[in-house]
Amino acid sequence: MTKDLNNNKEESKEIIFSQTNDLLNKNQDENESINYNFLRPQTFDDFIGQSKVKQSISIAVSAAKERKESLDHVLFYGPPGLGKTTLSQIIAKQSFADYTHLAGPTIDRAADLVGILTHLKENEILFIDEIHRIPKKVEEYLYTAMEDYRIDFPTGTGSFAQTMNMKLEPFTLIGATTRPGLLSSPLRDRFGLSYHLDFYEYNELTEIVQNSSKILNLQIDEQSALEIAKRSRGTPRIANRLLRRIRDYIQVKNKKKIDLSSINESLEIEGVDSLGLDRLDRSYIKILAENFRGGPVGIEAITASLNEDQLTLIDVVEPFLLKIGFLLRTAQGRKLTNIAYEQIGKNPPMNHQNELI
Ligand code: ADP
Repeated sequence: MTKDLNNNKEESKEIIFSQTNDLLNKNQDENESINYNFLRPQTFDDFIGQSKVKQSISIAVSAAKERKESLDHVLFYGPPGLGKTTLSQIIAKQSFADYTHLAGPTIDRAADLVGILTHLKENEILFIDEIHRIPKKVEEYLYTAMEDYRIDFPTGTGSFAQTMNMKLEPFTLIGATTRPGLLSSPLRDRFGLSYHLDFYEYNELTEIVQNSSKILNLQIDEQSALEIAKRSRGTPRIANRLLRRIRDYIQVKNKKKIDLSSINESLEIEGVDSLGLDRLDRSYIKILAENFRGGPVGIEAITASLNEDQLTLIDVVEPFLLKIGFLLRTAQGRKLTNIAYEQIGKNPPMNHQNELI
């Protein structure tokens, strides 16, 4: 059974470059509600890529099942859209366990968390998305809950102050975060299994596009699937999103199958270029080049110039620019590389060029 206690993952009608300040909305996709997303893989076999992670988790799941114990607590970290939620749901299914989904930022009162923890069933999976955004005073209740399946909750004040000890059923906490560095060490240390999800390779994304096309009943050849893969910023969620935009386009244009020209035409409308960069990525690069002479510059200054949400820049824009070598993070701040200058057809400033050599 799946419970979604705060299903605020609303349908986002926007494309990747949405100007919204709400990180959740920006990174969510249409049809991507927790309970209903027919493109979401249901088994480890359907889940493409991340083979080392998959292998390690399936061993841990099978071993825990054999011992009839709850699985060790799991931490997934990495940029949005790479499969953290999907893997957690697959773990729950493979373990035949109940599953509860929570978003970290919505748990702002300790009593709420305690209420949820005390209602967990034996071996239930509690998934907390954006776990780094749980307030510290709430997070502290997770320490004994994770380690000893117990909560010490203070009640009353002054001379009436008491501590209530509550025993919990053995459960598994799966935390997902885009920012492992923001987790406190007592919390981080309590995860027995910790996995970094990295961007996907083109061949993996091609397979994801082909599988999703089959589910959506779309005709696509391998070359076209590869082209969508190349424009997906290494991210399955984006691959699926682009596929759906292209599906709309060919439907309106009365085309029977997806081909390179329909991909080019529809993605041009969406503002997605041949590298998969969207309008926000391009604005980021342009501001860095034009307003800050390529850097180094602090993220606060970039955020202010772009009038964009800082979390979106750090969690969504920068990881991919770093990955493709457009950006460097130095002790002095963010810095554009010569490859990024080439891409926007500009020459780097002279001193900048020398520093990068
Ligand atoms: P995250 O929790 O890391 O933000 P999700 O697990 O919600 O990402 O994945 C976003 C979407 O991308 C899923 O709904 C699913 O359709 C697709 N997806 C993610 N990882 C994979 C994968 N390895 N294989 C196939 N599809 C995937």
